[in-house]
Amino acid sequence: MEDTKNGEMILLRHSFNRALKLKHLQVLYEPTGWSIGLKGIDEKFDEYANADEFLADIDELVKSFNTIWSHQRDIKCAITQLSELCHRDVKSIRTCSECFTNWAADPDDYFTKVCSKPHLLVYAKFGDYPYWPSKLMTINDRTANVVFFGDHTQADVPVEKCILYSKKHALPIEKDELYYALKETGIHIKKIKEKYGSFNPVTPRQTLNPTFYNDYILKMFNLPMGMNE
Ligand SMILES: [Zn+2]
Repeated sequence: MEDTKNGEMILLRHSFNRALKLKHLQVLYEPTGWSIGLKGIDEKFDEYANADEFLADIDELVKSFNTIWSHQRDIKCAITQLSELCHRDVKSIRTCSECFTNWAADPDDYFTKVCSKPHLLVYAKFGDYPYWPSKLMTINDRTANVVFFGDHTQADVPVEKCILYSKKHALPIEKDELYYALKETGIHIKKIKEKYGSFNPVTPRQTLNPTFYNDYILKMFNLPMGMNE
């Protein structure tokens, strides 16, 4: 438990260091109103017992700056960005700390790496995009949180809009976004085979059913029983 906590804070420190280096967030550095500012959060960082305490200070900063500088456009933008960045990174760290660690070490090539608890591969339908190759990160009730191959953005989609990865798709002729996403999927699958010996696509056109999640994982990655827990 202690290790998990420390691991979370080490990764969060990495994320926060990146935020501190962003030029347009410098307007939030000094204490303002009742907020200790980014400077205070930076100095206090080692005292935080967990990411929630850190986020509480970020939220206080947002409220304080928002109240005092509500007419300043650059500050409003900075607040929104800071809040999104911190909350997104905490969510990512908690969803899969291994993905986050890989990203921190190698942002350009982290997504093809295979985690020790591998992520189920699905085609997810989001907005006007076609079904897109993705890693399934979590399922909450009937909502799947996925990260897309290609641009690595994440989205929540209904499970009904996720199809299990079934077979290798032919690459589009045009070298568009989907082309690069499928290419990256291929590299990831190659690494899955290196790590687990095989990769087993499922019967075509199976919609994701949360009830069978564990079975999917065991079958797709050929894992020994218990590995998915
Ligand atoms: Zn992961």
